[in-house]
Amino acid sequence: MSEFPHLLTPLALGSVTLRSRVIMGSMHTGLEERGDWAAAARFYARRAEGGVGLIVTGGMAPNREGGVFPGAAGLYEAQDVANHRQVTQAVHAAGGLIAMQILHAGRYAFGKDCVSASALRSPISPFTPVALDEAGIEAQIAAIATAAARAREAGYDGVEVMGSEGYFLNQFLSPRVNTRTDGWGGSAMARMRLPLAVMERVRAAVGRDFLVIYRISLADLVPEGSFWGDTVALAKALEPSVDLFTSGFGWHEARVPTIAASVPAGAFVGLTARLKAEVTVPVAAANRINTAALAEEILASGQADLVALARPLLADADFVAKARAGRADRTAPCIACNQACLDHTFAGKLATCLVNPAAAREAEFAASPAAVPLRVAVVGGGAAGMACAATAAERGHAVVLFEAAQALGGQMRLAARVPGKAEFGDLLAWFARRLADAGVEVRLGATAGPEDLAGFDRVVLATGLKPRRLDLPGAETAPDYAAVLAGRVLGQSVAVIGAGGIGFDVATALVGAEGGLQGWRAEWGVGDPSASAGGLVEAVPEPPARQVWLLQRKAEKPGRGLGKTTGWIHRAHLAAKGVRMLGGVVYLGFGPEGLRISRDGQEEVLPVGDIVLCTGQESERTVAQALTAAGQGFDLIGGAADAYQIDAQRAIEEGVRLGLAL
Ligand code: NAP
Ligand code: SF4
Repeated sequence: MSEFPHLLTPLALGSVTLRSRVIMGSMHTGLEERGDWAAAARFYARRAEGGVGLIVTGGMAPNREGGVFPGAAGLYEAQDVANHRQVTQAVHAAGGLIAMQILHAGRYAFGKDCVSASALRSPISPFTPVALDEAGIEAQIAAIATAAARAREAGYDGVEVMGSEGYFLNQFLSPRVNTRTDGWGGSAMARMRLPLAVMERVRAAVGRDFLVIYRISLADLVPEGSFWGDTVALAKALEPSVDLFTSGFGWHEARVPTIAASVPAGAFVGLTARLKAEVTVPVAAANRINTAALAEEILASGQADLVALARPLLADADFVAKARAGRADRTAPCIACNQACLDHTFAGKLATCLVNPAAAREAEFAASPAAVPLRVAVVGGGAAGMACAATAAERGHAVVLFEAAQALGGQMRLAARVPGKAEFGDLLAWFARRLADAGVEVRLGATAGPEDLAGFDRVVLATGLKPRRLDLPGAETAPDYAAVLAGRVLGQSVAVIGAGGIGFDVATALVGAEGGLQGWRAEWGVGDPSASAGGLVEAVPEPPARQVWLLQRKAEKPGRGLGKTTGWIHRAHLAAKGVRMLGGVVYLGFGPEGLRISRDGQEEVLPVGDIVLCTGQESERTVAQALTAAGQGFDLIGGAADAYQIDAQRAIEEGVRLGLAL
């Protein structure tokens, strides 16, 4: 009997049968914009090989004005069909099914030709949209229906029309954007006219034997967002046109996180369950579902018919295959960091995955067995060392991993202690299992010197980092971030010196964790969309565990260097906890009266009993120096090679690259 009977039960949907209940949710990689359709085909085919029931592509624009940015991939010209056919053929050859997402961005389109219900600019866009006239609305509907017909021609098994996240169709539903009075707005019924017209025309364009999916916004999480009653009315009215509802939560301009690591697992499943009780077509749950166990629980409890996962399938294409093989604990976990996927997308870079650098780069990272098995020593069991050791051993090398501490993990072990980052612990556990499976000999508490390393064919040094000390009177014995995250107890008022990623993490740990889902909902003001527009209520954060100051020397706002899609969440969380974040600080000294600083030439004393040093790091190269002195060669990776802005993403990628090259 499988551990995941519901997850692995096929589902007949429209004219097709899904092999499993896992949908790969829409995830943009950027490969299509580069014109690399062969790589896009490899990326999706790899996920199909891994047993996913249905893949939904990244959003494809139905016309130029609907593209998320100028040049965004789409299917609005007949000549595009051939490119898309490469993808559908590869997925079908791998035994999978694939639907194309049609994404019309409306006022979120980053261009002056963007269109919407009314000429109201979004707070996250510099462009005011053109309010569509009657002919303009008809042109958009026709474009979406034509894109659906072309998707069928390109060999897709269906389309998902994006109706959530504040995109074009969602914009018509809300009086926040739709202030029309001409029959396309004015009442809730009139505001839902556009999605209804679109879906009727899409169905008419593709026929009955083609999957039609609507991604419905179950909580807009913006002021003047939809009430639940209107959402249910929309869903019921859409039912004749659609085969499946997938769930969407939060407009892009919402100030509530919906997929970040700090969002509790399965936080929004309850709303999907409520929709399921209202409609007869299947519904798919989404957001912060990243393990087969949680997915199984959601399906077994009848809260949804399917689960849609996006980022977890970047982290591990074999998510379903491993669940089927009873090896779910071997699944590489998505840690919801957004660092290599969404942050890359927003920076115009190719999306990949922190955990799995091969994602969307399948050809570049293809592994081949070692031509000549070597004896390889890897020194340092942090992210870079573990990634290198596991990759090399999986290719057939005999690897010994030396770790000076009594446990693997390095910086990753510290990250796992930060509230909202517990999934780093899952990642670490996954690496440990992978090392064991690959036969790596792990030596804990083992410092390696020239003599220990002399008999190896190759030596890899991944010795990581040490915290940078601060030359400040009174700070000689001040704890650094490593000591604090390892459990050093501090008093009721603390100044965190250094406001990089680690300073923010330490401040987060110091103000205290939220109390589960209820605490998280209270902090972010997430209520019931039956009772309040968009499901927003007044935020009532729990009081902080202590008073915290977060300081940096740069005169800019602290946190500017944090991830594009997550930085605002960290800043908002600390602000809600009353953390005073100051830039332009000159540190003068620390003593019994507190931390003496100056800002804009004005001296002041922050009344803190403790300070914590989060002032960056320096490479740990003791072993490298000893080997150099002994004339022994080595490869240097991760923080030991370059401490500047080193993070888990770069460390893992460097480890994997060297592991593949040995
Ligand atoms: P960081 O981002 O370089 O920040 C170091 C901080 O220390 C800065 O605020 C810097 O700002 C300050 N500083 C540096 N030298 C100083 C000195 N001599 N005296 C006083 N202050 C000094 O590095 P980090 O916070 O240690 O993080 C390391 C890496 O991990 C980074 O790449 C970071 O992005 C990554 N990380 C990311 C996350 C995340 O959430 N994505 C979380 C943790 C870590 P001033 O010079 O302005 O004072
Ligand atoms: Fe998940 Fe982070 Fe990988 Fe994105 S980069 S898929 S969030 S682990």
